[in-house]
Amino acid sequence: MSKPTSICVFCGSRPGKLPIYMDLATRMGRCLAENDIRLVYGGGGVGLMGAAARACDEAGGQVLGIIPKFLCGREAALDAGQLEIVDTLHARKARMAECSDAFVVLPGGLGTLEEVIEILSWINLKEYQHKVVLLDEDGYWDRFFELISHTIDHGFTDEIVLEQAMRAHSPEQALLKLGILGA
Ligand code: AMP
Repeated sequence: MSKPTSICVFCGSRPGKLPIYMDLATRMGRCLAENDIRLVYGGGGVGLMGAAARACDEAGGQVLGIIPKFLCGREAALDAGQLEIVDTLHARKARMAECSDAFVVLPGGLGTLEEVIEILSWINLKEYQHKVVLLDEDGYWDRFFELISHTIDHGFTDEIVLEQAMRAHSPEQALLKLGILGA
């Protein structure tokens, strides 16, 4: 498979309680810019989304934000890079997937979970072959992986999901797992 050139970042629209989350999002955005990878994201200027997009843009990277009209105010659509306005959350998710060739998932809430679960369910149905890296520095995703493993152990999910969905603990390690950076 060829190296990804456009990565969709799913992450919280809130900053979270610990400063490490915004810091990680900022470093992820910058790391994409430094490696000439386009950042595709939800278009908002708030929380981890805003931090990643602003950092990528400020470091000279390419940014594509995709936001539904009704969230432009609430999620403070960001004037960084290119902004595409769509009608619904479903249309946003579909466009984000269309415009990307891999996914990085930072800490986030229900919206982030919903987005990553949909991608993993497509992988489980063999409709999708892109890689997904869940990134944290504090074990944030531990319980998510436990839950996915639980569904595999009980025969409800295929093991391929955990071959395509990987873990990383730094932005550089995420790009390494996606085959963008060398070991
Ligand atoms: P959150 O992780 O809850 O902060 O949400 C991350 C992003 O997902 C935000 O841009 C939310 O607007 C979006 N989101 C929330 N709920 C959904 C949903 N049901 N489908 C798709 N995106 C959603």
